[in-house]
Amino acid sequence: MSGVLICPECGSKNRVQQVPGGQVPVCARCHAALPWLHNGSDASFASDIQAGVPVLVDFWAPWCGPCRVMGPVLEQIAREQAGKVRVVKINVDENPQSAAQFQVRSIPTLLIFKGGKAVDSVIGVTQKAALIQKISAASSASPA
Ligand SMILES: [Zn+2]
Repeated sequence: MSGVLICPECGSKNRVQQVPGGQVPVCARCHAALPWLHNGSDASFASDIQAGVPVLVDFWAPWCGPCRVMGPVLEQIAREQAGKVRVVKINVDENPQSAAQFQVRSIPTLLIFKGGKAVDSVIGVTQKAALIQKISAASSASPA
C-alpha cells in the first residue's frame, strides 16, 4: 500500500508505504494514530486485510448511489476510530476477483476482517454507530 495520510492532530502529511504487522500507522511528527483509509486491489487484497486491528472492507463502485452515501461515513469512521480500524475500499469494477472470492453479489457490501478472516458482514447502507459497534465487537473477539 502507499498513500498520503493526513494527521488529524497536527495536520502533517504522512507518506505511508508499509505498516509493520500488528501495528497501525502513526504520525511521524506527533505520533498520533492516523486515519487508515485507502484503496485496495485484487493484487494487494491478501495484505490489505491484514492488520493488528479489524479491517473494514468496502466493496463499492462509482455508479452505485448507496455506495456514495457510505463513502463519507467510512471516512468519518477512519478518522474517529483512528488506531482502531483499517478501512479498505475495493472498487468491484476494477477488482472483480476479490468480490467473487467473498461472494459479493450486491453493493455496497462491507466485510469486517480480523486476523485475515472475515468475521462479520453488512449489506447495504448502514448507520455509522452500527458499524462502529461491529468493529469494536471484532476487535474484542479473539482471533480464530
Ligand atoms: Zn501529527
